[in-house]
Amino acid sequence: MSDSHTSVPRWPALPPTLRDLLGKIEAETEDDLRHPRPWDLASLPDELHASVWGWLAQAVAWINECYAWQPETVIPPCWREHPHLALELAVLAFGREIAHRSSGTQEPAQWHQDLHDFHSRMAAALGAIGLQECQRGIHGERPARYELERYAS
Ligand SMILES: [Zn+2]
Repeated sequence: MSDSHTSVPRWPALPPTLRDLLGKIEAETEDDLRHPRPWDLASLPDELHASVWGWLAQAVAWINECYAWQPETVIPPCWREHPHLALELAVLAFGREIAHRSSGTQEPAQWHQDLHDFHSRMAAALGAIGLQECQRGIHGERPARYELERYAS
């Protein structure tokens, strides 16, 4: 059978730097966790910034292409401007990479549940109108900005 008959595009390959890093992380022992976790965007070393964010953009596009069937499951193009989405998407994308290294189907199946949970949290966090606006390129200010300013002052 030819690949031209499939509706499933190829998962984006990890850049060599990140592939090597995952190998090193997998080889760590519990009492010697020395390598940075590329799925933790809040702790990402500068030297990994470009490779992680570049690959993540490809992974998010792939997730949309494969799994966004209903409008509410489309990850908006401004996801990088939503820290709550970017942080989750990094975990989700690397989670898929790691889940599919397992020898069975349980971890990939769990990943699909994680994706479902992500879509639910995204819809709840953005709200129906906010999600639709962001998907259509109308990224607005954070609705909680006043409350956050009061907290900070
Ligand atoms: Zn947005």
